[in-house]
Amino acid sequence: MATRRTAAALKAAVPDGGRPWHALALMLLAGIMMGVALAGLHTVADRGQEFASPGRYNEVWQSYNLSRQVMALASTADAVASGLEPPARLKLRLGVMRTALLPLLHTHIFDEQEGERPQIQATLTHLDQATLRWNQELSWQEAGAARQVAATIAATLADQESALHALVVAANIAVATQTDHQRQTLQRTFHWLSLALLLLAAGCALLALKIILDQRRTRRLANDLHQLNLSLERRIQERTQALRDREALLQSILDSSPSDVTLIGADQRQVFYVSDSLLIQSGADHASRFSLAALFVDPAEHARLVARLERGELIYQMEARLCPRAPYWALLNARQLRVGEQPAWLVWCFDITQRRRQQERLTRRADTDDLTGLSNRRALLQAAVRHLRRRRNMPLSVLLIDIDHFKRVNDAYGHDVGDDALRAVANQLRSAVRDPSLVGRVGGEEFAVVLPETTLAEAVAVAERLCRMVATTPLVLASGPQLALTLSIGAAERYPREPLKQLMRRADRHLYQAKRSGRDRVVQSES
Ligand code: GH3
Ligand code: MG
Ligand code: MG
Repeated sequence: MATRRTAAALKAAVPDGGRPWHALALMLLAGIMMGVALAGLHTVADRGQEFASPGRYNEVWQSYNLSRQVMALASTADAVASGLEPPARLKLRLGVMRTALLPLLHTHIFDEQEGERPQIQATLTHLDQATLRWNQELSWQEAGAARQVAATIAATLADQESALHALVVAANIAVATQTDHQRQTLQRTFHWLSLALLLLAAGCALLALKIILDQRRTRRLANDLHQLNLSLERRIQERTQALRDREALLQSILDSSPSDVTLIGADQRQVFYVSDSLLIQSGADHASRFSLAALFVDPAEHARLVARLERGELIYQMEARLCPRAPYWALLNARQLRVGEQPAWLVWCFDITQRRRQQERLTRRADTDDLTGLSNRRALLQAAVRHLRRRRNMPLSVLLIDIDHFKRVNDAYGHDVGDDALRAVANQLRSAVRDPSLVGRVGGEEFAVVLPETTLAEAVAVAERLCRMVATTPLVLASGPQLALTLSIGAAERYPREPLKQLMRRADRHLYQAKRSGRDRVVQSES
């Protein structure tokens, strides 16, 4: 009961196919989140690298530098124009200022400042072109010409102060805007990255939860399985013990049974049980070599038993002769049954030799006339009927014999002498009649002879011989007197299909005729 409950619980606990899509979905989610997080990290790293790259957002410093260099150039131009400094100094300053100008010429930082951009571009282009031109115009050999260029530079640059100031302001604003923009982008990226990490963490937590739950369930299932195994083992042990006990009980019942018994596979190869006496009778030295066929004296009886068992018949009280080495009559009861999956036959044998002998004795007594030892009327007629069944179309004759004036014997010598005389006549008839003819005592001093395969003429000849034999042989009785007896005989041959009783009646009528016509004679027809 407990095992059944555990098995049911186990069955309920085992998921149908384990619902693998749960784990798959979680793993997919974690994978996506991990991808998103990696992409976010990559973006953040990119942006960080961008921020960290040297020269990035240097435009403010560059614009200040340009402004300072322009001022320095203007001051140097003033000094050169005044002849306070040599022109070479101006050329040097011009080169330095141009170096400060070049990065601003190629920057895109002002692209988004659409309002200021044309003016800034114009300032820078103007400075670029002017410096190029001034550079070409400066002649080192002609100091006068150089002073003129220096005066032009000083005059030109004096007007650029406000433009340069606007450039510095624009650069500040542009860099601030750009940085702000970058910061916002970075912040957004951070948001997404945080979200992705959060989801990733949630996915991981769910995955971990699922793993923990699965592990718990696995442990519970393993425990249930263990309990189930223990319970099964216990039940198997109990069953095995019960089976062993039952087998032992059955064995002791069979061993102590007064009957011989065998339980043999229907293929007649596997022997499950055979009692010792049957084993000995079959001539086998071991149960595994026991053969049912070897048990029977007559193979036909074995075949008959097997055929009936194979038809599934329940065999009750079948008589057969067993044990060819010392044959005896046995009564067999047998039936089909199953041993496990295998069909088998259970055969019980009872020794009925005693009963059989008694039966035979009784049958013999019932068929025999006590006084003479001849067959009585019933046995004689049965024997005649059996013969007629075998040889239906062959001739058959009967003789009905009656001792003449037998009453006188009794009257003269007493009943015992009469009995002796009856025995003596019976012996004479028995010795005079050969097989297959049958002699019987059918009445007080009446006898009958059944003559199979004998025509009436042949029967009459036999009857004549019997009459002569008795008439010519005086009976010397043990009790003393000599008797001369005669016989009257009625003979008749069976007509085709004539019932035996009718034949006997006809023979009786012929006997009567013999009596009437003087006795000591044979009569074969009614006259
Ligand atoms: P019949 O020639 O007409 O046959 O004369 P019967 O005297 O032989 O015939 P009946 O029928 O008159 O007498 C038969 C006698 O046989 C009478 C009876 O006492 C005798 N008998 C019959 N059975 C036995 C028997 O078992 N033992 C003896 N001792 N006598 C028997
Ligand atoms: Mg008589
Ligand atoms: Mg008589």
